[in-house]
Amino acid sequence: MTDFIDSTATDVDAAARAAQAAFVSFGSSDAAVRAALLRGLADALEENRERLVGLADKETNLGPIRLNGELDRTTFQLRGFAAQVEQGAAFAFTDDPVVAGAPPVGHPAMLRVRVPVGPVAMFSASNFPFAFSVLGGDTAAALAAGCPVVVKAHRGHRALSHAVAELARAVVRSQGLPSGVFDMVDGRGSEVGVNLIQHPAIKAGAFTGSVRGGLALQQAANERPRPIPFYGELGSVNPLIVLPQALNAQATALAQGLAGSITMGCGQFCTSPGVIVVPLGGAGDAFLVDLVEALKLAKTHAMLTPQMRAGFEAGRDAWRSHAKLKPLLAELAQEAEPPRPYLAQVSASDFVGDAHLHEEVFGPAALVVRVVGTSQAIEVLEAIGGTLTVTIWGADEATPDNAALVHAATQAAGRVLFSGYPTGVAVTAAQQHGGPFPSSTQPFTTSVGWAAMDRFLRPVALQDAPTWISARKGQPC
Ligand code: NAP
Repeated sequence: MTDFIDSTATDVDAAARAAQAAFVSFGSSDAAVRAALLRGLADALEENRERLVGLADKETNLGPIRLNGELDRTTFQLRGFAAQVEQGAAFAFTDDPVVAGAPPVGHPAMLRVRVPVGPVAMFSASNFPFAFSVLGGDTAAALAAGCPVVVKAHRGHRALSHAVAELARAVVRSQGLPSGVFDMVDGRGSEVGVNLIQHPAIKAGAFTGSVRGGLALQQAANERPRPIPFYGELGSVNPLIVLPQALNAQATALAQGLAGSITMGCGQFCTSPGVIVVPLGGAGDAFLVDLVEALKLAKTHAMLTPQMRAGFEAGRDAWRSHAKLKPLLAELAQEAEPPRPYLAQVSASDFVGDAHLHEEVFGPAALVVRVVGTSQAIEVLEAIGGTLTVTIWGADEATPDNAALVHAATQAAGRVLFSGYPTGVAVTAAQQHGGPFPSSTQPFTTSVGWAAMDRFLRPVALQDAPTWISARKGQPC
């Protein structure tokens, strides 16, 4: 096994300064330059697929099928952002020509453009070694916006991170771009990560991980003499509400699909359904019997790191010893085996009254909350408060109850699904991945989809700009 040397404070300083130097030209680059870079990075990943997937599999236990799919998603994101830049998304502007006369009606010529914010510190995720890591969505979005990127590698997949970073540096070199357009540092978050986010050359942070880690880095970003935006994607319990109307002939198939969603990737998805809201009564009971049977058959695999396994077991054991929770599926695995799925049940009032039950248990576990009527389901959503997703099954009719439930769901989540399962986040123009805290530190923005670029573009109004500036059609100087 390769030993990796932690980056020193000098290394972090050099990477951030190089990014600042590169920003001078890269920040004002045109669509062709950025698109060629993004496509070059995608090609490099694909050309090295076999080696990279092998490294990732050794370090994460995620398996070649999932990892190949994730690599495909990563190249799709890189190429998609290239197309977005070519279509003008990074250079969109509002032209508000002069209006003669006295204010407030009359006004000077105003041109509202967006400029890249500057070098971005990007903190790789543990659970997406490709798609939310070195060349993942945050990096692609920042480069598309014209921002150099300094990655802080995740120590759960160091060999892969270094291999991908080497490829990226080679692409940057081969395209004649300044080396600071992309770099990576590696080491403890509390040292290397904090040094990076506090470096004066860094102008924004992007993060996917735990609430604790995200809050620590956000605090470090805020304690700078000049605080910077910190886009953190943190914990999420992703409630799924089963309305009585959904408990029909399809209910068994829905339960089987839900078991697959709870155990997908051994539950290590930010969108894993962690709270299942089920009506009290016979139809709800039957649904849960199907869910338990499907979970018993589910295959799990080793978790990403021993620390994550320990974190899962601590959360699950807190549920096991909770006086108000009734276990529905409580098989325990030996230490050498992958963890078994865990399911427990709680009443709506006990759930609402205990804030600890609203916290994410990262891994293949879910809490079933039994409710009577829509009003209790709404109370559950209000207690959770902030989540990436809410899924509602059975709200097909336009009723006042359904409207109230959808209102509560949209208040709590960034994405509301009316069919299917929350795992799987499409990379599209309309995607919103980020909801109220703790699911995101910046719920007005998304970390998935083409709108993710907006996080790294800051609006500037140009008043009475000379024609040579308006002729740039939104391309920054
Ligand atoms: P993490 O512990 O938050 O680590 C993510 C990054 O933040 C790492 O680079 C880490 O550096 C850094 N970091 C952590 N604590 C820090 C601190 N106090 N100061 C500065 N930097 C810090 O997340 P993780 O390793 O990915 O997983 C741990 C837990 O996070 C999981 O068990 C799960 O609960 C949660 N998680 C949630 C999501 C989600 O999308 N909701 C995704 C992944 C993980 P180090 O290398 O030094 O640790």
